[in-house]
Amino acid sequence: AIPTALQVASGTGARLGVFIKSHQAMESARTVDTVVLDKTGTLTHGRMSVVDLTTAEGVRPDDVLRYVGAVENASEHAIAAAIADRARAECGELPPVDAFTALAGLGARGTVEDRRILVGSARLLDREGVTVPPPLDRARAGWESEGRTVVLAAADGAVLGALALADTIKPSAADAVARLHAMGLRTLLLTGDNAATAHAVAARVGIDDVIAEVLPADKAAVITRLQADGHRVAMVGDGINDAPALARADLGLAVVEGTDVAMAAADLILIRDDLDVVPTAITLARGTLATIR
Ligand code: ADP
Ligand code: MG
Repeated sequence: AIPTALQVASGTGARLGVFIKSHQAMESARTVDTVVLDKTGTLTHGRMSVVDLTTAEGVRPDDVLRYVGAVENASEHAIAAAIADRARAECGELPPVDAFTALAGLGARGTVEDRRILVGSARLLDREGVTVPPPLDRARAGWESEGRTVVLAAADGAVLGALALADTIKPSAADAVARLHAMGLRTLLLTGDNAATAHAVAARVGIDDVIAEVLPADKAAVITRLQADGHRVAMVGDGINDAPALARADLGLAVVEGTDVAMAAADLILIRDDLDVVPTAITLARGTLATIR
């Protein structure tokens, strides 16, 4: 009887938009009480674009774009692609970068035209002892409260400017979160982005709690901590940096347009670009077990 029920689940799953990789995880879904959702690429489309730019006194916007674009050109982050594209559109061919270093979850650095360029979060600049002038800091805070991702840039230790990047929230996100809540599940947003941006996005989709500014290496530890507190955790993610958390979760759900690494680590793959599949998948898993028992 068990294989039959599971075959039914597989068939129903495919029809509803879920590919069931691990039938064992269906068992876990029955007791899940917390759903952790990644922000970029999971709740949002993950296609960023530069929507605003402000410079430090005496700095030309084109210089900020050229320096930052040159560094980001060597990076593989979604933020980097958006900035490099914009820089090329405005400045033409970008200068080469030397000594490029990606700083996971924080930004990147490199030397461009003999200047040491640092690009990334406010936290990164703070860590590197770079002081952000008050007008730029106010711009950053304003953008973050609107849910923008903010990237700051410095050259030789002095701030050059700040860029605001926009991403779009998936239209299905708020509904999916409401359904999860109706099922008695707690929702939690997990991101490497800063707390203000994360809270703005969480508020728009109705998510209960936020864990922000989590370095890629620490995402899985957040899941472990929730489990240690007695929770049974489902994690929904798309990125390389979500893979360890997806593997650690009692139930890992990967978005199909996500990275191969995330899909390899997950138990369920959401085959439609629609977050509604998340509550559906958990309902399906619960139902399958009800049938088996
Ligand atoms: P997420 O959890 O949204 O996938 P990451 O952990 O990859 O985010 O990055 C966290 C933060 O680090 C970003 O919001 C950004 O502020 C900064 N960051 C990371 N990589 C870059 C980059 N290449 N350029 C600028 N900022 C970056
Ligand atoms: Mg992501």
